[in-house]
Amino acid sequence: MRIGIDLGGTKIEAIALDNSGAELSRQRIDTPQGDYQETVDAITTLVQMLEAETRQTGTVGIGIPGVISPATDLVKNANSTWLIGKPLHTDLEKVLSRPVRIENDANCFVVSEATDGAAWGADIVFGVIIGTGTGGGIYVRGKEITGTNAIAGEWGHNPLPWPTADEYPGRECYCGKQGCIETWLSGPGFSNDHQLHGGKGNTSRDIVLLAEQGDEVANASLQRYEDRMARALASIINILDPEVVVLGGGMSNVTRLYNNVPEIWCKYVFSDQVSTKLVPPLHGDSSGVRGTAWLWNNKESLE
Ligand SMILES: [Zn+2]
Repeated sequence: MRIGIDLGGTKIEAIALDNSGAELSRQRIDTPQGDYQETVDAITTLVQMLEAETRQTGTVGIGIPGVISPATDLVKNANSTWLIGKPLHTDLEKVLSRPVRIENDANCFVVSEATDGAAWGADIVFGVIIGTGTGGGIYVRGKEITGTNAIAGEWGHNPLPWPTADEYPGRECYCGKQGCIETWLSGPGFSNDHQLHGGKGNTSRDIVLLAEQGDEVANASLQRYEDRMARALASIINILDPEVVVLGGGMSNVTRLYNNVPEIWCKYVFSDQVSTKLVPPLHGDSSGVRGTAWLWNNKESLE
């Protein structure tokens, strides 16, 4: 049995999968806010609940909104800031008495979709989660790529490629740079650009609905968004050359992206033809937590 825990900013979701990937049990609790020890206790309790319910012992994989630094073995880059600098990996292995795998949540998303989802069977996969931020993860021939600095796939804080005069230098980002992809493609970034062009509606969902109802300003905002997403992904395709790009998060519900963005990225990719596909996630909102369970995907991890 595989247990996966998705540690989110507001909820902790836990799942138990059998060896075929079928769901045995699922639990969800509120994330203890601002308290590290309570977070460790909550994860431990969830593992105990799943094991009591299934009467089995499982491998444990965990997705966090950050990474474990290879240099220090401590949490870094987490927007749940009470985790930063804490020995989450060591503490959980101690309290659960077993090896634990911890990965960034975007890496877990790509693991899920590459293992038994929309990118199943693909050699090279880029997974992106676009919501309040723009996370990214890379999966190559059966394994997620973490990287030397544990930042592989973090495309969101690269600058928007091929900027037009009015896109440069771009808005300031919380990371300290200007014009980051995240400031354009995240939900808040999209909404901000739309309002700067005099658009109505606050959320991405509002803008998409307005465009569907024939609102020209909203449609123009979406066209600018599609061109920016195409440029941002074209620079990834030039480096990684994936078979499939899987889109997750709130923006993955915008169906027109799947046709329009690949039409546009052909203009930017350095190739006579581009057969890379852009697809929605098969597991929807469950992909993140399923991927944490699949962090243990090799046969020897299963007894
Ligand atoms: Zn940034």
